[in-house]
Amino acid sequence: VLVSEVMLQQTPVARVTPVWRDFIGTYPTPASLADAPLAEVLQLWSGLGYPRRARNLRASAVVIVERHGGRVPSTLEELLALPGVGPYTARAVLAFAFAQPVGVLDTNAGRVLARALANDRLGHARAQQLADELVSGGSPSVINQALLDVGAQHCRSLPRCGGCPLGSFCLWRKVGGDDPAQRSAGVSRPQPRYAGSDREARGRLVRALGAGELDRDRALAIIDGTDRPRAERVLSGLAADGMIAVSGGSVRVAD
Ligand code: SF4
Repeated sequence: VLVSEVMLQQTPVARVTPVWRDFIGTYPTPASLADAPLAEVLQLWSGLGYPRRARNLRASAVVIVERHGGRVPSTLEELLALPGVGPYTARAVLAFAFAQPVGVLDTNAGRVLARALANDRLGHARAQQLADELVSGGSPSVINQALLDVGAQHCRSLPRCGGCPLGSFCLWRKVGGDDPAQRSAGVSRPQPRYAGSDREARGRLVRALGAGELDRDRALAIIDGTDRPRAERVLSGLAADGMIAVSGGSVRVAD
């Protein structure tokens, strides 16, 4: 659950599914991931973008082994202390892996709560409270999954109300007015395109470095062979994020 939730941050499920299978097959336990070289982990991560997540996940595996005996912790505080784990991911692990009664508030659930239950733009505290109340009456895993699925299948940015299972008591559908999901808590803005983006260029270089160290000019050419300032900017960004080390005219994955 933790691996899939980290992968699903900012990457669509269709791209995540095959990589998740390979990842879990290669690293079936936190200890196996903690022991793996970062370059190898990044190689497996290639295609998902935002490779910093892979670095954080491996760092989390190290913490899980060193502080929690190799088992993913089951409290909000301990989960939030893992590198790269935020409130959404921590609550998703609590609900889906440990069946704890916490609401999982992502962009899909956020739209459903704002439209169907509140017909109001929600702040984070109110949205989380509504989500927690909703799951308190049954299986947290099933109710959270249902909420996320309604958001993904029906209550999309452009809602498909026909056939929505919440249609008969959805407040926004009954009352009308401006879309309350706009800028409501948990509801994200549309992601910029991945193809041609800096994210894609970062992933391309990290993937190439998985095979070994590269000459700096070669690394810049892999990022962008026609726009040198952009290539330099992307390279500097990766170095500043601690993903790569640039020294003596060569580039490698950071230790
Ligand atoms: S009826 Fe329409 S607006 Fe209401 S929850 Fe369903 S899809 Fe969303």
